[in-house]
Amino acid sequence: SDVIAPRRIKALDQDVVNKIAAGEIIVAPVHALKELMENAVDAGSTSLEVLVKEGGLKLLQITDNGCGIEKDDLAILCERFTTSKLKTFEDLTSIATYGFRGEALASISHIAHLQVTTKTKGSNCAWRAHYDGGKLSPAKPGQSADPKPTAGRNGTQITVEDLFYNVPTRRRAFRSSSEEYNKIVDMVGRYAIHCSGVAFSCKKHGDSGASIAVQSQASVVDRIRQIHGGSVANELIEYATSDDRWGFKAQGWATNANYHIKKTTLLLFINHRCVESSGVKKAIEQTYSAFLPKSGHPFVYLSLEIDPQRVDVNVHPTKREVNFLNEDEIIQAVCENIRDKLAAVDTSRTFMMQT
Ligand code: ADP
Ligand code: MG
Repeated sequence: SDVIAPRRIKALDQDVVNKIAAGEIIVAPVHALKELMENAVDAGSTSLEVLVKEGGLKLLQITDNGCGIEKDDLAILCERFTTSKLKTFEDLTSIATYGFRGEALASISHIAHLQVTTKTKGSNCAWRAHYDGGKLSPAKPGQSADPKPTAGRNGTQITVEDLFYNVPTRRRAFRSSSEEYNKIVDMVGRYAIHCSGVAFSCKKHGDSGASIAVQSQASVVDRIRQIHGGSVANELIEYATSDDRWGFKAQGWATNANYHIKKTTLLLFINHRCVESSGVKKAIEQTYSAFLPKSGHPFVYLSLEIDPQRVDVNVHPTKREVNFLNEDEIIQAVCENIRDKLAAVDTSRTFMMQT
């Protein structure tokens, strides 16, 4: 075999490093959208509008009515690790807001054209800025990169265009924009159910109607009805439990034994962030197996609030994974609570059929 001569080791371009890092956080348009929704909710918004073109690859726009961003912060808004939510490493263990790493906007600015229009209550106009590679950039070549005053309402509008335009391999990996749009509608639907008091809409550009339209005053059951239909909403039971020993509170809505579907729908929020957990899903399916036909599965919305000191949110840049202490005990307590409710409904149903 050939003898390989050693090659010199060189540092990668900072620009390449940033693009790689961004691609690890944002794999599909829905991941950018999730970060932007969490930011809007963090900003105290009561209205959140999402507009999508070509599954989010052409356009992803989210308009909120939250606190806005100070004009003087716009220059560093998209730098990595700039945040208004975290000051010290210790804060990582007690953070209550959704985002915490100051990386979302930075990442997006490295792999898309990003425009921000924002107005705080105290400002008499809105400010618009464009970003490229973490920094302010001119809207058109030759113009100044400084934010420009413009008309606008209180709140923030983030416009993400041409996602992955400079990552051709990633761009080519998307087969269908309707598949990406479905993921976006699913994610908006999850937050629309979880965030009571907040109005949500999600629209595909060019469509006359919205895919999701939820009023701010809608109840949780109303929200579930609008997004998942009456067959789910008419068969819901509410449950809630807590235990100081494990430092958690759980509450949610789950379908009763009258309802079943081929695959489990689990809307899981831990400390108000939408996450996935195969452990929770398995335990819930196990619980329902005693109540449903063999191939039947439930719809479950579960909001878990766990003492932040017991949660490790810093597992992975995507934050889709969350670890917490006493996971088994907490899952067991939640499932016991659901089982009791299911059994109670089942008994009253049997009783009603007998009389
Ligand atoms: P993080 O959310 O982790 O702080 P981001 O990159 O997502 O990091 O956002 C950086 C900062 O930009 C936030 O800390 C917040 O101050 C501000 N920001 C982002 N989006 C909004 C928004 N929709 N409304 C108000 N402020 C926002
Ligand atoms: Mg964020």
